Parts: sequence; C-alpha cells; structure tokens
Amino acid sequence: MVSELFKGLREEELDIEPTICARCGFCTFVCPAYLDTLWDSQSPRGKLFQLKDLITKNKAIPADFAERIFKCTLCGACEEICQVNIPLLRFWQLARGEIATLGEWPEIINFIDNAIQNSQNIMDIDQDDRLIWTDMVDDLVEGRVQKQAEVAYFAGCNISYKGTLAHMGENTVKLFSHLGIDFTLLGENEFCCGNPYFVAGDFESGTKLADHNLSELKRLGVKTVVFNCPGCHRAFSHEYPHLLGKEAIEGLEFLSFSQFVLRMIKEGKLSFTNQYPHVVTWHDPCELGRHQDIYEPAREVLRAIPGLELREMKHNRNRARCCGGGGILKGTNPVMSVRVSGRRIEMAEATGAEIMASECPSCTMSFNDGMEGRETSIVFKDLSQIVVEALDIE
Ligand code: SF4
Ligand code: SF4
Repeated sequence: MVSELFKGLREEELDIEPTICARCGFCTFVCPAYLDTLWDSQSPRGKLFQLKDLITKNKAIPADFAERIFKCTLCGACEEICQVNIPLLRFWQLARGEIATLGEWPEIINFIDNAIQNSQNIMDIDQDDRLIWTDMVDDLVEGRVQKQAEVAYFAGCNISYKGTLAHMGENTVKLFSHLGIDFTLLGENEFCCGNPYFVAGDFESGTKLADHNLSELKRLGVKTVVFNCPGCHRAFSHEYPHLLGKEAIEGLEFLSFSQFVLRMIKEGKLSFTNQYPHVVTWHDPCELGRHQDIYEPAREVLRAIPGLELREMKHNRNRARCCGGGGILKGTNPVMSVRVSGRRIEMAEATGAEIMASECPSCTMSFNDGMEGRETSIVFKDLSQIVVEALDIE
C-alpha cells in the first residue's frame, strides 16, 4: 500500500525535495522546537532526514515521529531560511495529513474535530452563543447581525468564545462605529474558518467550512471582510482559493486589522491626533508575516500615532521568532508553548520597550501566558487596543 504521505508528495512533485537538503543546519537554530529540545531529530533538518527514509521505504509515519511532527509550531522559519528553498511547511502539513489518515491525531485535535462536527466551533459551545463577545458593545452591534452590508467582521472561534480575547472584537467594532462603517456580523452563521483542520492536515473537513462561510458572506452582499485573527485571514486568503479555486473568492477581499486601519488612514478617513507617549516593539505573527508576507501595515499604523516610538526586536519581519502558539502547540504541548513564548518575550524585553504588541489572538494568549508569573515590566497589547487607546474611543 502506498502511504498517503508519499501519494501527497508525489502528486505535488515534492518527493524529490528531501534529497536536495544540503544538511547545512541553518534551519535548526531558527526552529523553536529544536531550541526547546536541542535534539537534531526534532529539528527541521532531522525531520526531513527521517521523512526521506520513510518515503524511500514507503513506510507509514511511526508514533514517535508523529509526536515530533506535532511539536512543530508551523512557524515557517525553517522554510524562510532554507538555502535550497525546500517547501518545508508543506512537508509538515502533508505529514499531519498522513497522521490524520492513520487515526493518530493528538487527543486535543480529536476534541477540536468533534467540537467542530457537533457545534461548528472549536469549543463545542452552542452557535446561539456565537455573539457572546459582543456583550460589552451590544449597542454598537444592534441590528447588524446578518444584515446586508459591504463590510463584514469575522471574529473567529477564539475571539468569539474566549472571554480574555473578546476585547479584540470589541475594539474593532468600536473603530467601525467611530468611522461610521456600515458592517455586518454573521452571528450564528459564522462557522469555524477551518484553520484547525488545515493545520492538522484534514483538508476535506476544512473545505466544507470554507464553502459555508463564503456562501454566507456572498448571501449578505459582503465585499470586504476584516479579521483580527491571522489564522482565519490566512484560511480565507490562501486555503479557500487553493481548495475551492480562485473563482470561489471572486469579488471578496480579506483584510487584516492593520491593513484595514492603514487603508482608512491612507483614504483620509482616520487620523491620530492625541499623543500616545509609549515605546512599542512589534511582534510579527507567523501566519500574517512569513505565511502571507504582510509585515508593514502594522508598522505604518504605529508610526502614524503621535508620540509612539517603535523599536524593532533583533529578529523581526521574516526573521521573527514564533510566539509558541502556532500549529496547535498550545493544545498539544502547553508547557513547551510557554517556554517558546518566554524566549520571544526576552527578545522584546531587550529592546527596552514598555509594550510588546501584535495582532493575533494566538500570540495574545501565548504572551499573556508567558508573562504570567514572570518578573517583567513589559506588557502585551493587541494592535486594536493601542488604536482605540490612541483615539480615545474606549
Ligand atoms: S515550522 Fe517552525 S517549528 Fe516547525 S519545523 Fe519549521 S522552524 Fe521548526
Ligand atoms: S536549511 Fe534547508 S538545506 Fe539546510 S539543513 Fe535545513 S532543510 Fe536542509
């Protein structure tokens, strides 16, 4: 029997790639999973070598290798630095697909899978509660649910259901209201974006969610969708057209929060006049930066705020280090995830900034967990928080 992994690689003409690895090791020292263990078998180079062996012998992925594959945050730092341009992220994704086929997913991913199948969200909470995050801004969303509008806000499961992240959605809605934007929310028709499936290698289940979400947006006449979550944003922008064809997203554009704010500034609809006298360092979320090449909008927004000083970390943009939350690592290996976030917080502290900022619910969770119990003077803020504070529209 031909393994699913081998089939997938052959279909994409990638089965030759592991043989071109120069074993230079550049990928090892950027890999959060390697740095956590210092085992070469956990490094991208080491995993590629093991994959090559499995492919050559047409063997299925064994349990110990599956465990290593799920210790990866899918941060993409290995692919970015690879000297011979091996599409490493695709290997890790296809390997996860093979593990799914073997029924060997980690328990937390089985839970998420069941939750989405039962309730269309990763928490297994009733979809009637999808808008629980709007409790503090209910006056601003009144009459907006499933209304026809050209702009939609897609909150995603984390912001919708995890109370500690609700502020991101609240801030976006406050900004929409401040700007007089006519917007809509999908409410109970907002299903999981499918990113957990794309991350875990089950593209078929993810495709059904993609189909549903796109139909709902089109039904409401939406043209622009705004996201605080780079995972959702990446799913819509890259996975949906990859799975359903480019025509599936025709007439729709997908903007990260920073891209949306920057557009408003450039169109003269938004300006910052209040002083915001703080030193900020910017953390690039992997799913926005390396995965989508979006680095500058957030920096341009921060530079437009009077009094704000932006200080870069040593490793920034495509060389940024992972927060520790990607690839469902927070679910599969929470302790390791906190150690990874701790290393990134150290880099932020070294800049002397008062605020470490980003735009991602997963990064927010990782850094808040990493800062808990840590002696540090730095605080973490989401970009949406800085924007509403600077505009004084809290
Ligand atoms: S994607 Fe990130 S965590 Fe995964 S192997 Fe590459 S560098 Fe390591
Ligand atoms: S950077 Fe690329 S070529 Fe070098 S060891 Fe890693 S995978 Fe191989």
